[in-house]
Amino acid sequence: MSKKNLEYLINRKDNQYEVVIGLEVHAQVLSESKLFSTSATKFGAEPNTQVSLVDAAFPGMLPVINEYCIKQAIKTGIGLNAKINKRSVFDRKNYFYADLPQGYQISQFKDPIVGEGKVILDMPDGQKEVGIERLHLEQDAGKSIHDLDPQNTFVDLNRSGVALMEIVSKPDLRSPDEVSTYIKKLRSIMRYLGTCDGNMQEGSLRADVNVSVRAKGSKEFGTRCEIKNVNSIKFMQMAIEYEANRQVDLIEEGKSIDQETRLFDTKKK
Ligand code: ADP
Ligand code: MG
Repeated sequence: MSKKNLEYLINRKDNQYEVVIGLEVHAQVLSESKLFSTSATKFGAEPNTQVSLVDAAFPGMLPVINEYCIKQAIKTGIGLNAKINKRSVFDRKNYFYADLPQGYQISQFKDPIVGEGKVILDMPDGQKEVGIERLHLEQDAGKSIHDLDPQNTFVDLNRSGVALMEIVSKPDLRSPDEVSTYIKKLRSIMRYLGTCDGNMQEGSLRADVNVSVRAKGSKEFGTRCEIKNVNSIKFMQMAIEYEANRQVDLIEEGKSIDQETRLFDTKKK
């Protein structure tokens, strides 16, 4: 890692590599009730006490959109200097998981509520613009709890159906420090607007971190890996550093990188 000039590079014997990062930030909408039901969203309630028939996906239940969540997303879009789309569409993203009773997540795929925008970062060596690809609304899933019992997994559906804003950045970030500044900037914009409390300990703000590397000076992007659901800035930075070095090692060995989804092990780092 070079520190003298502020460029973040990974150095090997004869080569220098640049790191390219794009984030999918999941920001929980600050709202009393869920995206498609009237259940409360309050953090820390007894498990399964904030679950309506809609959230539990009982037969015949129909989702009804929460107008306030739409307003919150639009407000956030304006804060990101982004295009607000007059028409947006919800889709079903089907997958099976124990904490997803519907068997699908209601999300926005082709037509998100917010389009392209930008965020300006104040870095030690000047301002840096980070492009926003889109912001879409989607439902959160419930929570599977694996560490309370050696034999059983418990499911808490309180979070099921809570509104999330997924804010997708362009692959414009180049270092762990830029990622840290970007997350803090997003958080301060949303806190100021009152659209997300930004509380990372409670999971209100978490990110999928996409990382690739390329030879310094190259114009083409390398193959990315996505590190899922990282919930602290420190862990994001550590995960980027680890993942970028792993990719550089593969390239140095003449191997190629497989696009894959990975998890950051917070114990083993
Ligand atoms: P997916 O749903 O497949 O993860 P998205 O479009 O929602 O796709 O998100 C892709 C994310 O990956 C964006 O944040 C984007 O900036 C980032 N990204 C795309 N290509 C690269 C790359 N080569 N290196 C690093 N990040 C990338
Ligand atoms: Mg992704």
